[in-house]
This record gives sequence, C-alpha cells and structure tokens, in this order.
Amino acid sequence: MLDYKLVTFLEGMILIKEAVISFVEKIKTANRLYKLIAFSAISVILILVSVFSSGVKLTYNLIYNGNVFANVASQEVYSQAVALAKTYVSGKDVDFSGIEVDSVISINGTTNNVEETSKLLLENNPAICNGFEVVVDGNVVGYVSSLDVYETAKNSRLTAFDIEGATCTSTFTVPVSAKATYFDVKNLSKTEDINMAFATLDVQTVAIKNTTYTVKYETVAQKDSTKQAGYEKVVTAGVNGSNKRVEEVTYLNGVAVSDPVISTVVVTAPVTEVVVVGTKDVFVTTTPQNASSAGFVWPLAVKGVITGPYGELRSGGKRHAGVDIGVPVGTSIVAVKAGVVEEADYDSDYGYYVVINHGNGLKTRYAHNKCNTVSVGQQVSAGQLIALSGNTGRSTGPHLHFEVIVNGGTTNPGYYLDLN
Ligand SMILES: [Zn+2]
Repeated sequence: MLDYKLVTFLEGMILIKEAVISFVEKIKTANRLYKLIAFSAISVILILVSVFSSGVKLTYNLIYNGNVFANVASQEVYSQAVALAKTYVSGKDVDFSGIEVDSVISINGTTNNVEETSKLLLENNPAICNGFEVVVDGNVVGYVSSLDVYETAKNSRLTAFDIEGATCTSTFTVPVSAKATYFDVKNLSKTEDINMAFATLDVQTVAIKNTTYTVKYETVAQKDSTKQAGYEKVVTAGVNGSNKRVEEVTYLNGVAVSDPVISTVVVTAPVTEVVVVGTKDVFVTTTPQNASSAGFVWPLAVKGVITGPYGELRSGGKRHAGVDIGVPVGTSIVAVKAGVVEEADYDSDYGYYVVINHGNGLKTRYAHNKCNTVSVGQQVSAGQLIALSGNTGRSTGPHLHFEVIVNGGTTNPGYYLDLN
C-alpha cells in the first residue's frame, strides 16, 4: 500500500513537473497580453486559496439589547437552540422575541453549538428567571428564585405541631420538592402564596420523649461460715444505675394517632451490693470451762431488768447473740473484767458499741450506747466506766446489749453473770 502511494505520488509529481514545463514553454512563446492574463488568473486563484484556507466564513451574532451573547454557524443552529431552551423552561408563555440576529464574516472564529446557545439564550433573556419550581403532591404550586422561600414555608408548617419536651421528626403526608429550573419571570410566586401552599398540608410528627430514672441496686448475701451469725460486712458497695425510658408517639396535625411505643435503654447498670454474712453457729450449749472463775463484775451501775434473753429467736431466723438489760439512757456501763479496748465504734445494728478483749479468747461487747467514753487500744480495769447506755442502732428501747464472746462465738452471758 505504502509503495503504491509512493509510486502514485512520484507519478503525480512527474505529471505536475511536465505540465509546469509545458506551461512555461507556452508562456515563453506567448505574446505579452496572454502573459498578463495568465499571471492575473494565477494571482486570483492564489488569493482565493489563501482566503479559504485561513477559515473565513459567514456566521450569525445573537444580540439582546445591543449585547452580543452568542455566535452561531447557521440559522438552523439558532432555531434548534431556541427549541432546546424552551424545554428547559418550566411553565408556559416563554418569550424569546427581542433577539436580534446579525450575520457577520468571521475569520478563524469558533461558534457556539446548540447546547451552549440554548443556555446562553436562557441566561441572557431578561424574561427568564433561574430558580426552582415548587412541587406539592405532583403539582407545580409556584416558582421561587431562592430556596429560602421554599424552606421557610416548609419548615414553618412542619414545626407547627411539635410536641413540647420531645424530639420531633415531622413529614408531610404527600411528597414535596423544589427542583432547579428556568421559568418565565411573570410566573415568580409571592412568598405568601408559597406559604399558603404549605399551610394546609397534613403533617405527621413522630415525637420521642426521653426520661432518665434511677435504678436501685440489688443486694446479695455471701455466706461465710467462718464468721459468726450476726456478722455483716459490705465487701462491694452497691451503686444505683440509671435507665432511659423512651416513649414514641405518632401524631397527625398534633393529634395522637398511635399508642405510645415504650422502650428502655440502660444508661448505666447498677452495681450489686455484696454483703458477707456470717453463718457460724454462735451458741455454746455447755458452760465454758473458765466461766465460774472469770470473775465478771455487773456491767452496769444499776441492776436493770432482763428484757431479752440470750438465744431468743429474732427476725430472719437469727438468734439473740447477747442479753438485753433494760436501764434508763445515760446509765454508766463498766468493763466486766480488765482488758484492752479492741473496738469503740458505731454500727447500724449495734449503734455505739465497745468490744473489750480480756485475753485467752474471751471478749465482751456493750452495745446501743448513747456514747462511748473509751478508745481503741485503751487498757481498762474491771468496773471502769467505758460508755453511757442508750438506744442507738437497731434498738426498740433504752437498754444495754451485752455479749460474751468465746473464741469467736458468743455464749450465754448467764454463765458469767448472776442474772436472777
Ligand atoms: Zn440485744
């Protein structure tokens, strides 16, 4: 193929060369007039060739109010652009009159195509507005130049039925939209007309109310057989939790149309309180060996009355770990035997109480006191004032609760005191 083209080209060149030689020979032999005609013809041909090869052509300017806004290659492009522009315009009565079309010679100029020209027609036509058509339930209800008008009208209606104290999500029961379009400026809507178009629409509102409330912690007992009955110690403090109650109700124009849908969300879970509870049997059925030789003095300044015997069944199946001696508040309580103050504290059950360690596994407890007059570590002698009797802690009347503890378990104080 390449060879064939090369041959054709060379043959052409030879033909042209022969034609030129023959023409020059003819000119040489021609007279003066023919020479002039020949050169004039060649000049005209050269001018025409150069003019057409440089891209001179006839085009059309499109003009609005003296402003050239587009240049098209033909009347056909212009009429197609007008037809296309009309399809971009929403509504009727589009007016493209008033455009001047002016033919011009242009050199090497580029012209606008149909699509470009249609946009330029719309943008330069003072009768055309660039904005939005507002559509409600499939019908165009008006034209706005700014979305603000549409949004304001829409939101004003949507928030009209908000429920106080609730998070509301509102929607219309019909579709609404604003679509970008060109429209005839005569069709521009008044703000109040757009407001009116939304003012009667049905609004569905989903209102969600959140209420946070406290969840009381639970308490579990952890039995410990190495601790005597009546022993209670919180090892994990209970912490209240928090729940959120979510109530969802659907409204139509402010009137409830659904039953509340209620759900619960755990915000923080409560921490269960763990209490170690002693279960060791504290009752000694036989007389402790050294009871008679213990030599206890009476623990009070007055005799008092036995109001609760040792071992009495109490609420929760517990047995009374000591003996209750009814005396007026403020009666002096004394140590039954010499020892060291091991505890002098307050407890929700015992109230103010004192424990004295007498050595050899023997201890005594004095509880429900008005106040303690000794402190931990203090050495006390038999008969020494250690507290004033009272009615503190879990107590139903003024008395001394007196316990005798032998090797960690309580025993009947009657073995040590003359209770008659
Ligand atoms: Zn008691």
